[in-house]
Amino acid sequence: MHTPHESLGLEQDPRYVANVTGREGLESGIEVSVNPTTGEPIAGVRLDTAETYERTIVEAQDSFKMWRSVPAPVRGEVVRRIGEEMRRLREPLGELESIEVGKIRAEGIGEVQETIDIADYAVGLSRMIGGRTIPSERPAHRMMEQWLPLGLVGVVTAFNFPNAVWGWNAMLAAVCGDVTIWKPSLLAPLTAMATNAIADRVATEMGYPGVFRLVIGTDDEIGELLIADRRVPLISATGSCGMGRHVGQVVAGRLGRCLLELGGNNAVIVDKDADLDLATKSTVFGSVGTAGQRCTSTRRLYVHRSIADELVGRMARAYETITIGDPLAEGTLVGPVIGQRTVDAFRSAIAKAREQGGEVVVGGEIAEPEGLDGWFVQPTIIRAPASNELPISKEETFAPILYVFTYDTIDEAIEMQNSVDQGLSSAIFTESIRTCERFLNPDGSGSDCGLAYVNLGTSGAEIGGAFGGEKDTGGGREAGSDSWKAYMRRQSCTINFGGELRLAQGIRFE
Ligand code: NAD
Repeated sequence: MHTPHESLGLEQDPRYVANVTGREGLESGIEVSVNPTTGEPIAGVRLDTAETYERTIVEAQDSFKMWRSVPAPVRGEVVRRIGEEMRRLREPLGELESIEVGKIRAEGIGEVQETIDIADYAVGLSRMIGGRTIPSERPAHRMMEQWLPLGLVGVVTAFNFPNAVWGWNAMLAAVCGDVTIWKPSLLAPLTAMATNAIADRVATEMGYPGVFRLVIGTDDEIGELLIADRRVPLISATGSCGMGRHVGQVVAGRLGRCLLELGGNNAVIVDKDADLDLATKSTVFGSVGTAGQRCTSTRRLYVHRSIADELVGRMARAYETITIGDPLAEGTLVGPVIGQRTVDAFRSAIAKAREQGGEVVVGGEIAEPEGLDGWFVQPTIIRAPASNELPISKEETFAPILYVFTYDTIDEAIEMQNSVDQGLSSAIFTESIRTCERFLNPDGSGSDCGLAYVNLGTSGAEIGGAFGGEKDTGGGREAGSDSWKAYMRRQSCTINFGGELRLAQGIRFE
C-alpha cells in the first residue's frame, strides 16, 4: 500500500532486499519488515552474522581513534549538519515510521523532530562539555576534572521509537567523541537503516567515516555478542524490563556500564479542583497516543471520588470519537499496534481485568478498520472495582488500556500511584499549590518517578530535561541536563607546580 520514499535511499543499502512477498522461500539470514497496518511485507533485511559483527567492531575501534582526536566543536559541526539533513528528510523518514511501526503521520514526523532537537542541543553542548577546577588542600597544586571520550557505545533500541531513541544517544555520544554501534529492534530495521545512513553519509562526506554504525540481527546472536563485548564500555538499552534485567546482569558481569531505559506504568492523578477539560484532553492523548505504545503512555488514572463519574464520562465520550485506521490517512488518531503479540496481550489483559472485577467502560475489542488487514485494537477504559484491587494494572501491557481508580485523599492517591514496580512518568492535575507541592515534595515523599508533571499528561517529554525513570524502569537518564556524562569518562587531575612533595591529609614521609 505504502512504500518507503526513494529519497531515503534504502534501495542502495546492501542489506535491503526488495520485492519480498512473504517469509516463505526466503534464504536464511533475511528478516522481513512487516507493515502493521496491512500485515504485508515492506521489504527484507539481510541480517548481520557473528563475522560481520566482528568486522564492525574492529573497524569501529579505528574510527574511535580518529574521532576522539577531532575537537569537540568540530564534532558538533558534524552533528549540526546531520540535524540539517534530518530536517530535509523529516517527512519521508516520519512516514517510514508510519509504514513500519504504525505511528500516525504527525507522531512519526514529530519523532524525527525530536532527533533534530537533540542534534541542536548536542551542537551547543559540543562547546560546553567540561569539568570543574577544584580547590586543592596543598599549596601550589591545581586540581581539575576533565571529561574524556569513552569509546564504543552500544545502543539497543525498542521498536516504538525507532529514530529518536537512537538520536538521544547518538547525537550526544558523537559530540562526546564516541562511536555508536546501533542494534535496532527487528520490528523496525528499515527506519534504523534510513536514519543511520543519513548520519553516516553526512559524517563521511565531511571526512569522518564510521562514526555511526549499525548491526542488525537476532537477540540470540548479535544482541548477546554486543552486550557481552568488553570492547564496548557502555551499553545504552531501551526496551522492556525483562530485557533490561538480562542486559544489566550481562554488562555488570563484565564490569561494563549500562544506561537502562525500560518499561513504564504511568499514572495521572486528577484532584477535585482540577481543570477537567485540560485533564481530559491530556489524559486521552497520553493513553491512546501511539496506540498506547509509548513508554510514557498513561496506563492508570486516579480520580478524586467527587469527580470520578464526570471525568470518566468525558473520557468515554472522547474515546468514542477517535478515528482508528491507516496512520497515514488524514484524521486518523490511532493506528495499528505492532503485531499479533500485542493483540494477544491486549485480549489477555482485558480478560484478566474482567476476572478481577474491572468493568469495561468503553472499547475492549479488536478493531477492524475497513480494508485494512493489520493489527488494530480499540482504545479501552476499565474501571477498577470499589476495592481498587486490580492486579493486572500493575503490569505494563503495551496497548491502549487505561485503568481508572478512585480516591479520597491525595496521600492515598500518591501511595497508589507509587505502588507499581516501574517508575517512569507521573502527572497530577490540580489548581492547588499545596497539592502540587505535595506531589513534588522535595523530601521525596511525592511521586517516585523520574518524570513528574503538573497539569500536563505523562507522555511527550521535551529533550531539555534528563529523561528516564526509577525502580524497574532502570535508572538511566538520556537527552538533556547532564545526561552527556554517561557517554564520557571522568578524570580527576592534580598538578603540582610548586616543586615540593606535598602529601594529602598532612602525611609526612621524610
Ligand atoms: P523489547 O524488550 O522486546 O526489545 C527492546 C530491544 O532489546 C530490541 O532491540 C531487542 O532486539 C533488544 N533485545 C532483546 N533481548 C536482547 C538481548 N538478549 N541482547 C541484546 N538485545 C536484546 O522491547 P520492545 O517491545 O521493542 O519495546 C517496548 C518496551 O520498551 C516497553 O516496555 C517500553 O516501555 C519500553 N520503552 C522504554 C523507553 C524508555 O525510555 N524508558 C522508551 C521506549 C520503549
